[in-house]
Amino acid sequence: GYRRVLDENRKLYNQLQDLKGNIRVYCRVRPLFGQPNSAGSVGSIEEGSISMIIPSKYGKEGRKTFNFNRVFGPTATQAEVFADMQPLIRSVLDGYNVCIFAYGQTGSGKTHTMSGPDDLSEETVGVNYRALRDLFLLSQQRKDTVAYDIGVQVLEIYNDQVRDLLATDGGNKKLEIRNSSQNGINVPDATLVPVSSTSDALNLMDLGHKNRAVSATAMNDRSSRSHSCLTVHVQGRDLTAGSHLRGTMHLVDLAGSERVDKSEVTGDRLKEAQHINKSLAALGDVISSLANKQAHVPYRNSRLTQLLQDSLGGQAKTLMFVHIRPEPHALGENLSTLKFAERVSAVELGAARANKETSEVKELKEQIANLKAALARKD
Ligand code: ADP
Ligand code: MG
Repeated sequence: GYRRVLDENRKLYNQLQDLKGNIRVYCRVRPLFGQPNSAGSVGSIEEGSISMIIPSKYGKEGRKTFNFNRVFGPTATQAEVFADMQPLIRSVLDGYNVCIFAYGQTGSGKTHTMSGPDDLSEETVGVNYRALRDLFLLSQQRKDTVAYDIGVQVLEIYNDQVRDLLATDGGNKKLEIRNSSQNGINVPDATLVPVSSTSDALNLMDLGHKNRAVSATAMNDRSSRSHSCLTVHVQGRDLTAGSHLRGTMHLVDLAGSERVDKSEVTGDRLKEAQHINKSLAALGDVISSLANKQAHVPYRNSRLTQLLQDSLGGQAKTLMFVHIRPEPHALGENLSTLKFAERVSAVELGAARANKETSEVKELKEQIANLKAALARKD
């Protein structure tokens, strides 16, 4: 009885999340340096919208408001940001594929959100570590009903090549992305490290961080010009029903989205810039064709979208997390970022669908409340 109520509650919760749309868009505004409460040049921030004051040199002068599922201002803590994403992240243990990616120009706070700042502490650790710890703890709580295996890979995509950031040999080998009926899209030759304690999770983060840092000093902050991806593979065996489930989650810190002036860079930098532009454009095309429910989704245009294919669209849950810099000089790039995000959210969050959903969502919420009450009576 108790087990059934729990399962039912979880199922309804996932259904509720599904109805909210499989593509969500969040936005976070970094504080100005030295002014932790200031959003600088950003016009205003509400829970579900952000306004920018646009001068005439960027087109139509005036205030423009962008609506998203959630907007975090400069004072939002890492814990608050994670709390909002937690249900989505947890659904990987129920066999969902999840993809969360941080988008924005260099210096906008992508790495801060996903990994945390350089001086990590309990308060400042980012989504990656919080997610691993949470999944591990939740899998422990469920251990009498489901036997979970959680394994992690840390990959980098640089110039359209996949590298293993957990490789003990420095990871200079170029890896292939494969598609198998058993494991879906995967990178079989990348190191897969099991997570069987919270300290495993922390050690992994350290190792990936160091490997990325090594290439950063060697190659002039390459980290902002490559995509890094923490992939969590989950397998679960239901101990009573005997059934199996599989879920994959990609947590992606994308390369900086800023346009590089072609007249100013040459050689390697130009090649990097072209690869970044191409892969981010490919990602944008995939997401918007999913949001528009187009029959053909162009996954094959870049390694980035190939790698994420299983976790974008279909039954997968996607969170696009865009980041905004508060400095006035960052406005042009901020507007490109917000327009990129708007391409997705304008479609998915349209009013037409909302009406139909309201009654369904309401009903599901009531059922969840009833189940929660039933659970409480059991305690
Ligand atoms: P990106 O990865 O987008 O290039 P970073 O995450 O490296 O940007 O952020 C740039 C700087 O701003 C870093 O020093 C980072 O610690 C700081 N920073 C970013 N976001 C926040 C935030 N929300 N609160 C405080 N400091 C932040
Ligand atoms: Mg970064």
